[in-house]
Formats: sequence, C-alpha cells, structure tokens
Amino acid sequence: MKVVIFGTGYVGLVTGTCLAEVGHDVTCVDIDIAKVEGLNNGVIPIYEPGLAPMVKDNHASGRLNFTTDAVAAIQTGDVIFIAVGTPPDEDGSADLQYVLKVASTIGENIHRPVIVVNKSTVPVGTADKVRAEIERALKARNASVKFDVVSNPEFLKEGDAVKDCMRPDRIVIGADNEDAVMVMRRIYAPFNRNHDRMVTMDIRSAELTKYAANAMLATKISFMNEIANIAERVGADIEHVRKGIGSDPRIGWHFIYPGAGYGGSCFPKDVQALERTATQVGYRAELLGAVEAVNDRQKSHLFELMVRHYGSAQALRGKNIALWGLAFKPNTDDMREASSRRLIALLLEAGAKVRAYDPEAAHEAKRIFGDVAGLEIVPRATDALAQADALVIVTEWKQFRSPDFNALGHALADRVIFDGRNLYEPAEVEGHGLAYWAIGRGRST
Ligand code: NAD
Repeated sequence: MKVVIFGTGYVGLVTGTCLAEVGHDVTCVDIDIAKVEGLNNGVIPIYEPGLAPMVKDNHASGRLNFTTDAVAAIQTGDVIFIAVGTPPDEDGSADLQYVLKVASTIGENIHRPVIVVNKSTVPVGTADKVRAEIERALKARNASVKFDVVSNPEFLKEGDAVKDCMRPDRIVIGADNEDAVMVMRRIYAPFNRNHDRMVTMDIRSAELTKYAANAMLATKISFMNEIANIAERVGADIEHVRKGIGSDPRIGWHFIYPGAGYGGSCFPKDVQALERTATQVGYRAELLGAVEAVNDRQKSHLFELMVRHYGSAQALRGKNIALWGLAFKPNTDDMREASSRRLIALLLEAGAKVRAYDPEAAHEAKRIFGDVAGLEIVPRATDALAQADALVIVTEWKQFRSPDFNALGHALADRVIFDGRNLYEPAEVEGHGLAYWAIGRGRST
C-alpha cells in the first residue's frame, strides 16, 4: 500500500521503516529540513538498535522516501499517518498544534479518498478535532473529498522500537467504520500473521487506551519507588521485596524495578495529560497526581543519598563525581525528562564537578547542557573516573553491570558508589572496601 507518515521522530521513522521493510511504499514527511537531508544521505537522527541498516536498505530499494514536500507527499498516499510530537502545554495538557497543523495540511491538499491515522499520543476527542480541521480546510477550498480518521496509538518502547514495531504485542485500532478497519488490517497484515494481535474498538476508547497503558506503567514504577523509600527507612531490602512480590502472577515480574525515577518523552507528559483530561471532565484523578509527585521526588533521591553520605550538601562542593548513564533508559540516546538532568543540576548547584559518560547520549547531553561550567561529557566510562571522588550510576546500560570493583576502589578517592538502578550485590561491592548506596536497600547508613 502507499503510505505517508508525518513526523520522522522515534515513532514516525521507526513505523515508516518497518512498513517499508514489509513491502509498503512509504514517504516520510518532516518539517525539519536538516533531518530530512540527513536521512536522504544515510544519517539516522536517533539511536535505536537495528534501525540504521533497515533505513538504509529500504531507502536504497526506493520503498522508503524522505521529504519536506508535504503537498507532493499527500498526493501519493492511500493512508496518511500522523506521528508528530504532542509535547505538554503549560498546563500539562497535550499541545495539539503539530497534529492539527498536519490535519489542515491534509485538508488543504487531498484530492482523493484517504484514511488519516493518528499515531501520536493524543487526548480523547482529538480524532474529532482532526476531522473538523480537515473538513474546515476542505471547505475553505470548496472541495469535497471522502476521508476517515482512525486512532492507532503506538506502544513501541524506545530502545526496543524496531522489535516492538515488527512484533507488536497488540495493534489497537479505533475506528467508526468497518471499511477503515479493513484497510488497517491490510496494512498491518505482515505483522499479524502468527495470531491476531489487532484489537479494534471505538475511537475514544483507543485514544484512552494509550494513556491508560502509560499511566499503569508509571504507577508501577512510582509504587515500587514508594515501597523502596519505606524499605530504606525500616531496614528492609527492596530487592528481596521485589522478588517476593513478583512471583505472584497477579503482580508479575515486569516493571517493578525501583530506581531514580522515570523519564522519557512519554510517561511524564502522558500521566500529566491524562490528569488534565480528567480535570477537564470534572474528575480529580488523585492516583495520577500521586504517581507524578512520587516520581518528581524520586528524581532527587540519588542526590539525597549523596548528601546523606557526605553529611551535607555543602560537603559536595569541590567533589569530582563520575556519572555513568545520561539517557532516560538504556539503548536510547533520548534524554527527555531523564533523571540524570535533575541530578546534574543539583550537583552543579551544590558546587560539585561532574564527569559524565553515556554510550549513546553524549551528543544529546552536549546539546542540552552546552558549555555549562563544572560538567564534562567524556567518551569512555573510564574517562569519567579520572580524579573522581565518587561514582553515581543513573542509567542501567548493560556495560555497567559487571565493573572491576578493585579498579573502582583505586579510582574513587572517597571509595563510594551511588547506584540509582540497583545493579550490584551490596555485599560484593562492600567486600571491595567500597561504600554502596542503592535504592531502597538501606546500605551504608
Ligand atoms: P519526536 O519529537 O521524536 O518527533 C516528532 C517529529 O515530528 C519531529 O521530527 C518534528 O520535526 C516532526 N514534525 C512536527 N511538525 C510536523 C509537521 N507539521 N509535518 C511533519 N513533521 C512534523 O516525537 P516521537 O517521540 O516520535 O513522538 C511522536 C508521538 O508519538 C508523540 O505523540 C508521542 O507521545 C507518541 N509516542 C512516542 C513514543 C516514544 O517512545 N517516543 C512511543 C509511543 C508514542
């Protein structure tokens, strides 16, 4: 089928590439000229395992094209996906300006029937707004063209995006007519062979499904962080507690890791946006507010452990801190709302110096922080340890899992590790004469 995708970010680029990989003709449109030029020259703007070779192969085969020319692209599509950003507005609600801009561009330029598929994460009722915007633009040019609006929220995880897209757990389709569902079935058929993963429903339910999924996942994280903070105070080890509860199938093993708080482009903004939606319909979503509040506090937790270790925030002045992990999670270069950003800000404010390393997010960190005094982004994990007093781990990249503790003991003047992801066995670290502070494990107190 002929597919057009607006937005070449994490969702648009991965979706477009996977659709091309299974044989569809895909044109990706973006307003970012540099990004499109780069993609046409084989420069992939994001780090996502497996993505780069797939983009290059499909681009070379002519099935995957990149352009800034929305008008020409629209003429080529039977199905037009909207996968542009929906960042938080000032009041926490989703900012729909990019989605609605694409809708009006579509209305201004379609000449034959199309299906418009919204893949961006948008509040309930947005499909109606998209439809109204297209109708307004059609009316403005005295045109009448049949179109459908479908909601197809995206559930891919950064770091696993290609895998998630090629082998989705589920494909949620919200539509108000069977013909549109049939077209979506054809598009996704190559991903849906083993068993039927497609869940069809009305549009509003599909829109809410995405927020419900992210809010549930964020809730699991904040819940575990809450229990970890209690564990710390009552002398329990959250890692034992985690194993004790995960074995209950009603709870399960997934997503019950305590840590330094959740970040990324989705959970923080989606929990906020859902809370805002609830407020707009006269419902106070207390649980969602608590999930956010717990997470916000958790982002400062590593710093608080450091203050506890050194006795005061003032004692951190002049300390050299090695920091491993800048991305909001492993296998991505995305630093949106990453816990590392809060920690770095707090450390610099306290007068510490930070030498930070991340396998993929160095360029993003340099873009975010610029030449801020006291922070150096270094190319290797060992470079971060040079003249360091302490090590703090913020992102659980695999390469941090089995360090040479002897070498760390020699490198770190204060012989202390702060671990925001509970990567190590406390007894092992302490056995090397290092103090070890982790989340909810009550050590080194
Ligand atoms: P992103 O910020 O990485 O990319 C958005 C892209 O859209 C940018 O390249 C931007 O230049 C482009 N854009 C903006 N206006 C445009 C226009 N008028 N025409 C063409 N392109 C335009 O965003 P993302 O992370 O890919 O997220 C996109 C949407 O998908 C969001 O609603 C997000 O909440 C949702 N989502 C994201 C993820 C994720 O893991 N990143 C997962 C599921 C859902």
